[in-house]
Amino acid sequence: MAESPSQPSGVYFFKKRKSFYQPRKERDLNSPIQYLKGVGPKKAYYFRRIGVETVKDLIFLVPRRYLDRKNLTPIRELKVGEEGTLIGKILAAGTQKTQTKGEVVRIVVGDNTGIINVTWFNRPDLKRAFHPNQEIILSGTVSYFRGKSMVNPYYELIEEGKEDYTYSGTIIPIYPLTENLSLWDVRRTMRQALKVAQPLLKETLPKKILERHSFPNLPTALNSLHFPETIESARVAQKRLVYEEFFYFECLLALNKNRKREDAPILFNRHNLTEKFLSSLPFSLTQSQRDVIKEIEEDLKKGKSMTRLLQGDVGSGKTVIALYAMVLAGENHTQACLMAPTEILAEQHFLNWHNRLSDIGIKSALITSSVKKKEKERIYKELIEGEIGIIFGTHALIEEDCRFKNLSLVVVDEQHRFGVMQRAKLLTKGKSPHFLVMTATPIPRTLSLTLYGDLDISTLKEKPPGRKKIITQLTTEKNRHKVYEYIRNKLKEGRQVYILCPLIEESERLDLASAKKTYEEVKLIFSDFSVALLHGRMRSEERIRTMEDFRKGLIQILVTTTVIEVGVDVPNATIILIEHPERFGLAQLHQLRGRVGRGEEVSYCILIAPENISEEAKERLSHFEKLDDGFLLAEKDLEVRGPGQFFGIRQHGLPDFKVGDPLKEKEILFQAREDAFALIAEDPNLEREENQIVKENIPKRFQEREGLLKVI
Ligand code: ADP
Ligand code: MG
Repeated sequence: MAESPSQPSGVYFFKKRKSFYQPRKERDLNSPIQYLKGVGPKKAYYFRRIGVETVKDLIFLVPRRYLDRKNLTPIRELKVGEEGTLIGKILAAGTQKTQTKGEVVRIVVGDNTGIINVTWFNRPDLKRAFHPNQEIILSGTVSYFRGKSMVNPYYELIEEGKEDYTYSGTIIPIYPLTENLSLWDVRRTMRQALKVAQPLLKETLPKKILERHSFPNLPTALNSLHFPETIESARVAQKRLVYEEFFYFECLLALNKNRKREDAPILFNRHNLTEKFLSSLPFSLTQSQRDVIKEIEEDLKKGKSMTRLLQGDVGSGKTVIALYAMVLAGENHTQACLMAPTEILAEQHFLNWHNRLSDIGIKSALITSSVKKKEKERIYKELIEGEIGIIFGTHALIEEDCRFKNLSLVVVDEQHRFGVMQRAKLLTKGKSPHFLVMTATPIPRTLSLTLYGDLDISTLKEKPPGRKKIITQLTTEKNRHKVYEYIRNKLKEGRQVYILCPLIEESERLDLASAKKTYEEVKLIFSDFSVALLHGRMRSEERIRTMEDFRKGLIQILVTTTVIEVGVDVPNATIILIEHPERFGLAQLHQLRGRVGRGEEVSYCILIAPENISEEAKERLSHFEKLDDGFLLAEKDLEVRGPGQFFGIRQHGLPDFKVGDPLKEKEILFQAREDAFALIAEDPNLEREENQIVKENIPKRFQEREGLLKVI
């Protein structure tokens, strides 16, 4: 989905836009829709909010779903609990103030067979939308509350004089609308846009592929997408577009896989530093860790750059594998870097490892945006001179001035937190460096193979020995004192505790206050223990000191925010208390829970929710309570609710698809991958006549993402 512009609405905005706007004489696919009939600056603004600026944007706006007017059901025959679509007359309309849900819009609709109550919550824009005697189509799930009812259904008013649009075809596409942009606006504009576009549209898929899958050509597909004769034709059209998007993406991966990376540094294991490194560890590696290391060693000595994804649940011990590979780089007199998404994590990596590294003769350093200028300059100098062998850092590593003498290995920790471009930039700092990315965010294997295409994948299957299950318990406010009592006992046994307050990006200040407040309270209640506050807005020295004191056990309770979400590792901390768990997504909760259970003691994750959370949230949290395996949790969640809930695609650092959803439309994705890889295998340089269309379209599709070609 496209993002809405950050500009707020208002006169200023319209004026500003207008002065920039110059009508074009030539109408092409990139003409702004504003010149189409009925689209003034105001409507154009609302169109932009659904990501539509040009004719092309509009005709490629894919409907969310379709409504089939043939499937209308008389009200009497609607079944509670099932989806239904009906047409009726509005008998009464009004708004009502409620105590808990603000103002609601209510209407009563009747047909010859019965009546139904309809309610919309949180839709102040509908306040004046409905009047008695209007005809209306409603579609949604039928519930029962003092009679048959629907809550927040899809609706469509059948207004007089607009029959032309209403009754054109029985299938109505439903678009992602926004306030002040009705289905009519979209349909009317769509009609014109298609007319303008039809003669200009060029086919974008090879003929062979169209034939193989019986796909309609592009103009036909777009017509059926927006004005379908049958649901089936709309589906086929949609499928074609989704396929096409995946197909080109996979072509890119296939080309990338073929790319020669023969000039990569050859890193042999001479068993000198690596042996020393291993014997300096306070534990021995698990079989699973050893297997992965072997895979990596094989890659590194080939002289072809490695691109490997290391997957492993939180706490499975990925870091030591990365360090091993980095030591191997050092052993071969080259440099390695590790990029982490947060300063706290980068600092932790540095603090945990720099002594051990220096003991075996490798100098390491830390670079984040908090590092002072002078110190930074020293590090830059030592990096370019090759004195520093291993550097840990945040995205500060990407900065222009950060240059290496001979970077041979790039490691990215918690890679889902970084964008493709950030990773790409880091790779330009060396000559075909090897690339290792690590993630705890579970993606089903088949999918990651397909999406990462040319990455090889290693998976850590077991956790270090002796780990006990983390006991997760959901409770409510009224049990808070019991929870505190429990915590007190654990503190007396010498354990440490995180108390986590939500921090949601948009309202950082507000949430910060809540962490501070909690801190004050906790300090009073646990006055006989040492309590500290840690959040992202602290000065970095203070933060490092706090973290270090917590690691050393000088601090027993750490009241904190999601700054500790990823990677933070203090094995003696065995309890995490999460406030307002209903405000977190499952993936995030799982990461947070991963802060405990890192040693041999039994660990606890306690969630204190307010009394009145929604049923949906309750269900989600009780799922979380039962499942402690990240992969199972993800799969379960995918099964129940579909991909959107568990993780935003973006969160994952997965490619950002416009039309297709790689998680929902797996079958199409796999098909597209097979076709694309076969095509590139047959014609690696796209020289054949029939494939010219592919050759032309790849750069067109990916032009905004230069660099992507080099990386994925
Ligand atoms: P993650 O995979 O989440 O990045 P870490 O690498 O932070 O996990 O490891 C979690 C904890 O497990 C760390 O304290 C680490 O020192 C420890 N650890 C890693 N490997 C082993 C092992 N083989 N045996 C015992 N502890 C280990
Ligand atoms: Mg980690």
